[in-house]
Amino acid sequence: MSPSSPAGSSSSSSSSLYTNTLLALPDGPIPPSHLDLTSHCVSLLGGYPTFPPLPASAAGKVPEEVRCGVCHKPMPLLAQVYCPPENGENDRTIYVWGCARVKCQKREGSVRAFRASIRNEEYVRDVEEKRAAAEKAAAAEREKARKNPFTISSDSQPNGSALFGTAQPLFGAPSSGSNPFAAPVTSSEAPDLSSLSISSSTPSSSTTLAPPLPAYQPAQYLSTIEEYIPPVEDMEVEEDEDSDDEAIAQNGGLEEAWEKILPKGVDEVFENFVRRLEAADGGSKQVLRYELGGMPLPYSTQSPICKRLFPGAEKPLAKDEELDLASLYNPSSVPPCPQCKSKRTFELQLVPSLISVLKPNAITTTGKPSEDQKETKPLSEEERKKELERLAAGVKGEDKSAAEKEGEMEWGTVLVYGCEKDCVGLVEEWVGVEWETSLM
Ligand SMILES: [Zn+2]
Ligand SMILES: [Zn+2]
Repeated sequence: MSPSSPAGSSSSSSSSLYTNTLLALPDGPIPPSHLDLTSHCVSLLGGYPTFPPLPASAAGKVPEEVRCGVCHKPMPLLAQVYCPPENGENDRTIYVWGCARVKCQKREGSVRAFRASIRNEEYVRDVEEKRAAAEKAAAAEREKARKNPFTISSDSQPNGSALFGTAQPLFGAPSSGSNPFAAPVTSSEAPDLSSLSISSSTPSSSTTLAPPLPAYQPAQYLSTIEEYIPPVEDMEVEEDEDSDDEAIAQNGGLEEAWEKILPKGVDEVFENFVRRLEAADGGSKQVLRYELGGMPLPYSTQSPICKRLFPGAEKPLAKDEELDLASLYNPSSVPPCPQCKSKRTFELQLVPSLISVLKPNAITTTGKPSEDQKETKPLSEEERKKELERLAAGVKGEDKSAAEKEGEMEWGTVLVYGCEKDCVGLVEEWVGVEWETSLM
């Protein structure tokens, strides 16, 4: 079923099919009260963000909550991504929030991102030791790669150009307690989720936001794979008129589902977006793409963000012309880091499958998963009555209250650009949202 295994391929040309992008996939719920829920060194979806202990100069900036720029209400966290740059001296964590209120969709300010960077004394102190450990981990990864085609093999690492050691888990993996890069290194205490709030935080401890702020529950781990695009031959797709149909046959329902969303051939940029997501080995479940200093994958020529970052992409292609986004890419209009004035560079983007992972009915303010989600459990008589009352109230309220309600988010992609210099502190970073569009 699965396309050819990169690990099994001996030809060196296949290595070029690894891109420098890391794909993040949901990897199961984090158990309640787990220490990973209070670490800034863990990558997760939903749940509450944990900010690292910031230097005294920056400590006052830790937000008690992050509010929507439209409705001014606290927003649930979409993702926390732990991404210390390779060979850097900092812990770096990116946080993205999005408002789920119906009335806030497609409006500026309803998605926001922050970056927390702190000097990691351990990284600085014993870089050598960590290198050795990383090499050991790399050997273990190589061993694993022989069995798992989705894991990068040692001979196919993008040489030199990779920003991260490929064997080094960029995002804290759930089972990575022994890995020096993924283990929470600075938080000495494990604060209780329910009791910790901004007021109890000092510069020397981390801060985890907590109920009654809204959050998608349960929080889920994010794990990463390298993006690997199998050779076209392997998919038996010919460069002819039938190629679309064959691709549909190959990818089955997934591609069909995409085709239903939008008719093909309407928007080259959108087609490129969809095909890239679907083409990667194991990539159909990707919810987030990470490549510090890379180029984002634009979603639609219709969006102002695409026109801004890829000027000219909206022009129709000549008959034999291929879409060449790299030649159009121009991020010079992205504002610099507000703290150190350095250039901001592309860091990560959220893709639409995240929307189906973070369902509005998973938002609670209790720190616990919502009862709504347990759909399989039959309702008791009393619950049924309550549910009817709730529905009746909803119908009565109609217009205004419907817009106040939480619904599915309506973006196509969320681009986050972060400070290239990785300056220490907690800084709001630049977010470019391409809203979901109908291209009919
Ligand atoms: Zn809002
Ligand atoms: Zn900066």
